[in-house]
Amino acid sequence: MSDCVFCKIVAGENPSAKVYEDEVCVAFKDLEPKAPVHLLVIPKVHIQSVDAVTPENSGVVGHIFEVIPKIMAEQGAKTGYRVITNIGPDAGQTVPHLHFHVLAGQEMGWTPA
Ligand code: 5GP
Ligand code: ZN
Repeated sequence: MSDCVFCKIVAGENPSAKVYEDEVCVAFKDLEPKAPVHLLVIPKVHIQSVDAVTPENSGVVGHIFEVIPKIMAEQGAKTGYRVITNIGPDAGQTVPHLHFHVLAGQEMGWTPA
């Protein structure tokens, strides 16, 4: 997707503060952090959202969930962290490339809606 900002980050065309990268996914710091640690973990392949996960591409989602605990251990998130993904306009998805927000570094409230 040539006009997708996260595809541009994957391609190295847009800068990002990367904390992890492998052949399947990239993790980088959110531009507008909502917690002391606020990462975005994204697949390298363009998938619009959870709504576009299929039997053919769901392996990347499993991979991302294997990687997130390793990244968060490196980030020192000893007392927990939160993973969020927004799907569509009602949920506030602003970038139409599947991404998992990973937040840590403080006690969090629970007012998701
Ligand atoms: P959404 O609202 O789609 O769930 O989350 C999109 C997130 O991406 C927002 O938290 C926003 O701050 C972040 N974001 C948008 N554009 C960029 C960018 O170019 N670089 C980085 N690092 N974060 C971005
Ligand atoms: Zn994309």
